[in-house]
Amino acid sequence: MILVKNIEKKFGKHHVLKNISLDIQQGKITAIVGPNGSGKTTIIKSILGLVKPDSGDILINGRTILGDHLYRKNIGYMPQTASFPENLTVKEVIKMIADLRNQSLDINPNLIEILNLIPEMDKQIKNLSGGNKQKLSACIALIFNPSIIILDEPTAGLDPVASSNFKQRILEERMIGKTIILTSHIMNEIEELADNILFLIDGKIVFDGEVKDLIQSSGESKLEKAIANMITENTNGTYN
Ligand code: ADP
Repeated sequence: MILVKNIEKKFGKHHVLKNISLDIQQGKITAIVGPNGSGKTTIIKSILGLVKPDSGDILINGRTILGDHLYRKNIGYMPQTASFPENLTVKEVIKMIADLRNQSLDINPNLIEILNLIPEMDKQIKNLSGGNKQKLSACIALIFNPSIIILDEPTAGLDPVASSNFKQRILEERMIGKTIILTSHIMNEIEELADNILFLIDGKIVFDGEVKDLIQSSGESKLEKAIANMITENTNGTYN
């Protein structure tokens, strides 16, 4: 579905992605995990076409995305922190993005309900709480019914009800065959949601496989401990 082939990226002298190759499968939830600065966002931005790799290729459904931009219509993206025009209302932001994407909204208004956004629809962005901005961002990632959904720390800042409802919704999206990529620092959440895990350290992949295999191969019972061990092993104990 999404094939990343040998991508390299340097920012100045800083070698951020080192020969990254991935095969992200359709109908699965793939978590990208790693310490801060390990290159997770750079991989996501490369798939979104917001960062151009120095070399290598990225293919979606067999077609290179480099030099293309139309493929983005099929992607819903929830960034870690979204910013919207401050003077628009929630309703106007959704309408503006629908116009920009030239797409009609998914006839699933239930998304707005499960995120409890109905009372916020007529409020201006500048009057929204941080959590409600996150809910809007979550809503926009899904409301155009994209086949690929990319969520960067999706539940950070959501209240427990919205977080639980949104996670349930992510699982439902998987059931209907969507391809989902997420990052999270909450290992319980990854255990709950993800099928596959890519574990990055310092721009290199140190594990690419099923979550259950990572846990099993570590001899631990929880992902958090397995990941912590792997970080210590791969950074000679220098990570803190
Ligand atoms: P993560 O998402 O895993 O925290 P990032 O992909 O955001 O990591 O960043 C990886 C490294 O690349 C970091 O050291 C970061 O400072 C650097 N980096 C990311 N974007 C840029 C940029 N536009 N210019 C310079 N350095 C960058």
